[in-house]
Amino acid sequence: MGLEIQPMNLGEGEADTSFMVWSMTPGEKRWIPCSTYLILGGETPILVDAGFRDADELQASSGFPFRQSAEQTLEANLRKHGLEAGDIGILLFTHLHLDHTGVVDKLPNAKLVMQRTELGYAAAPHFPDLFYDRVDIGKIVDPLWKQVELIDGDTEIAPGVRTVVSGGHSPGHQMVYVDVDSGQAIIVGDVAYVIDPGLTQEIPPGYSVNTRDTVEALRKANREGDYLLPMHDHAVYDLYPDGIR
Ligand SMILES: [Zn+2]
Repeated sequence: MGLEIQPMNLGEGEADTSFMVWSMTPGEKRWIPCSTYLILGGETPILVDAGFRDADELQASSGFPFRQSAEQTLEANLRKHGLEAGDIGILLFTHLHLDHTGVVDKLPNAKLVMQRTELGYAAAPHFPDLFYDRVDIGKIVDPLWKQVELIDGDTEIAPGVRTVVSGGHSPGHQMVYVDVDSGQAIIVGDVAYVIDPGLTQEIPPGYSVNTRDTVEALRKANREGDYLLPMHDHAVYDLYPDGIR
């Protein structure tokens, strides 16, 4: 089918290691990327997740330090692949946490695809959940509503690209299966933040709305994937400097 996946770093956040991987070395901090994955080779370029909106504002609202260099902007990342924001036809969300919704309003020609359950919960969480950015979620509800396409359950997004709902990390969390010529790639979202030991040892991150569902998703990803791609691991840039085909 000739699909290609390129990881792109849209900025970094600093997290306690016990938050990245449940109970791992509490008190130790690490800067982790907020990645997006660009899927090329189909009818239209697809982005999976959208980084964060503004480092200083999010640090103030969430308490987590964030930073973004000049090379980590959406524009700079797309330029490396000869693209502009207007070329992206689909922005697909694994979930709507604040480090995944940042450039939602920067893609004028993109369908914004997300699980209905996730948007519902993001708009009206069960407690004042700092992980949803009210500004980004507000934009999705309006003025970007015309671009939004809600899905209910596992869905084919394009030939060779489909979502599999996992729940776990958030109510409408989904993984993205991409058929590349060399095997099955799975963009796992935040089911695990890092490949090792999160995915390799099937240990969930420090945040889940349903930990059992997260662990089930980790097992499923390991069973079904040849390439497992989390959103918050620098290792993917070292493992796949030329992307995945
Ligand atoms: Zn995240």
